[in-house]
Amino acid sequence: MKPPASSAEATDRLPVEPALVTAAAALEPGAAEARHGELVERVREANRRYYEEDNPELSDAEYDALFRELVALETAFPALATPDSPTRLVGAAPGGQFAEVRHRRPMLSLANAFGEDELRAFDARVRRGLGLPPAPEAAPELRYGAELKIDGLAVSLRYERGRFAQGATRGDGTTGEDVTANLRTISVIPDRLSGAPALEVRGEVYMPKAEFRRINEEREEAGLPLYANPRNSGAGSLRQLDPAVTAGRRLSFWAYQLLEDRPGGEGPRSQSEALGRLERLGFPVNPERAADLDIDGVIAFLERWREDRHGLPYETDGVVVKVDRFEQQERLGMVARAPRWAIAYKFPPEQVETVVEEIVPYVGRTGTLTPVAHLAPAKVAGSTVARATLHNLDEVRRKDVRIGDHVILQKAGDVIPEVVRPLVEKRTGDERLFEMPERCPVCGTPVVRDEGAVRIYCPNPACPARVGQEFGHFAGRGGMDIEGAGWVVIRQLLERGLLRTRGDFWRLTVEQLESLDRFARKSAENLHAAIQRARRRPLARILNALGIPQVGEQTAIDLATWAAAAWPPRDDEPMGGPQGWTARVAGELRRTATAAPARFQEVPGVGAVVAEAIARYFADPVSGEVLPELVAAGVEAERPPRRPAAALAGPGEGAGTAAAAPLAGKTLVVTGTLAGFSRQEAEEAIRAAGGHAAGSVSRKTDYLVAGENAGSKLARAQELGVAVLDEEAFRRLLARGEAAR
Ligand code: NAD
Repeated sequence: MKPPASSAEATDRLPVEPALVTAAAALEPGAAEARHGELVERVREANRRYYEEDNPELSDAEYDALFRELVALETAFPALATPDSPTRLVGAAPGGQFAEVRHRRPMLSLANAFGEDELRAFDARVRRGLGLPPAPEAAPELRYGAELKIDGLAVSLRYERGRFAQGATRGDGTTGEDVTANLRTISVIPDRLSGAPALEVRGEVYMPKAEFRRINEEREEAGLPLYANPRNSGAGSLRQLDPAVTAGRRLSFWAYQLLEDRPGGEGPRSQSEALGRLERLGFPVNPERAADLDIDGVIAFLERWREDRHGLPYETDGVVVKVDRFEQQERLGMVARAPRWAIAYKFPPEQVETVVEEIVPYVGRTGTLTPVAHLAPAKVAGSTVARATLHNLDEVRRKDVRIGDHVILQKAGDVIPEVVRPLVEKRTGDERLFEMPERCPVCGTPVVRDEGAVRIYCPNPACPARVGQEFGHFAGRGGMDIEGAGWVVIRQLLERGLLRTRGDFWRLTVEQLESLDRFARKSAENLHAAIQRARRRPLARILNALGIPQVGEQTAIDLATWAAAAWPPRDDEPMGGPQGWTARVAGELRRTATAAPARFQEVPGVGAVVAEAIARYFADPVSGEVLPELVAAGVEAERPPRRPAAALAGPGEGAGTAAAAPLAGKTLVVTGTLAGFSRQEAEEAIRAAGGHAAGSVSRKTDYLVAGENAGSKLARAQELGVAVLDEEAFRRLLARGEAAR
């Protein structure tokens, strides 16, 4: 073996920090080979877990460190760089679950830069490659564009005669997986383009942070392993064999590359022109970008986003810097697996050190005891963190986190505070091991750990912690949404015995409410009125409010939609009361739960496990009584919209069971403040009417519902000629399914 390589030889390899190469070159050839073998194995295993299972074990920073060491070793000892080295390959080959798609042009990876120096080194390489003078001399003909690096899953979308024809993942760069059906469920991806061009668009499918949080909450509740970050949950959601599952996860997309052969060289001549054209074609293009920069401008851009990124609703892990002009890109070409004209600057992982002051077991709604670390408050990824869940006792032991430990703290996916590891070297010997209590810390009932399970729980259904949270969930925003019925109020009502069942809310009098601490006549009347208003809610909200194990907000929507199709209300049928539709649905749910529990698997997105949980809930003599009891207390579902059978398309659904949905097939965006709806309510009304509520305006948007102070979305809708509705017109549309502009 021949150490170390000359700089000329190094040009067909990925760039890497010279200090790392020097360190690698100091190894004995035998030791270098052994270390190389070890690194290749670890990187391959990490790739498998990341790309094939969407479930990485290493953090990206840990992975990047291994990868860089590998590149450095291969730069120092070129003979080690065999063609099958992970440094020469992109991603992972398709796993066989999906049909394969061969990319017309390879989908590459990007070389990485981890600091300002490495960006300047990139600038120097580009200048050399283009025969331009080295910095600091001016090179006005070299301009860079800077785009946020979206942490998602790269896909390519092929359009033929203006229609979306096929979509694929990157795979190994040459061959990807055909995920067309799943991509069709992402509302911001246009179905049709005006002008009917043939083209290919590449971009990133991603999961917004809020959706990541929601899905992990549902998974934790269901005892499923959590997704490490939005990237992995996004990739996992897209690579589903059942598109209904993808549809249930609210994924989104940013386009960043256009491949189009236009006759006569009329097409865009630079990346910035291409992004503009993508926008005009109706693709979502991330507005947080800059063009016409020199390398100082690029550095200023990423300095700004280092902090500001935490305020974005999606995750970005860096900035992609691209030479703007296509002609220069072509001259620069590519190295083994990445273009020479672009580089991905990675933000440093935001980790801080803090101290675990206490570990406290919290009792959740289903009785689960969750150990929560109380931390010395620390600022990380844009907010101050004082608590981090440690999930369960096994996790506390696996990480070996002790009370009094100095620990590294980060936010998983920029969202969820997470204790990464203890700093064992800082231990003084005063740290204490956390033990789960043998009795529930709230009601004193001995806790239970089922054979082979991780979960430890309080089995007492009357435990005040469980009951309090059940009632809190019931009255909370995703449930019956009783304004003013917060935890302080609910606790008092429970303590005074005024609330024994959920239906008791509607039996409370103004006088009883006035007797609560810090309540006066007016506040009691307000709360009483809010409780009365909450009597009528969409069926999905009522089902979500019940807190059925394994059923989160989305499943509740799916279950309600399915129920409304299976047992549609008759025209003359009242919604409430013992003869009403709500009572009938409650009866049907119970009958199905006992007589044909597997039928719940017909609900889109519901598999065997969730179907069983739903059946168990409605068949149970105690929980099964809750819905009928609510109906008896006067609660009723709002009349579901009529919808065509085709709009529902739940597997196994009888075609004759549904009527017309006013917004079937329509995409609406809500912006500004509406007088009669919160944003969530307006979006629910859209979904309940069979429509799709999207987050951003594109050519695919059918209507923009604009309230007070509508801003950029209104401007965008006007620019694209999208119909704009005021609140009144929106109400008429919901009612009749006609645009009353
Ligand atoms: P990369 O993620 O570093 O960069 C390439 C990708 O960036 C492109 O394929 C594209 O999908 C994406 N991208 C996002 N925004 C873009 C934009 N505006 N323009 C162009 N591209 C954009 O490279 P990679 O090969 O996809 O993956 C390697 C990275 O994946 C590693 O650096 C690491 O962060 C992560 N990884 C982690 C593990 C692990 O175990 N944690 C394992 C494998 C890979």
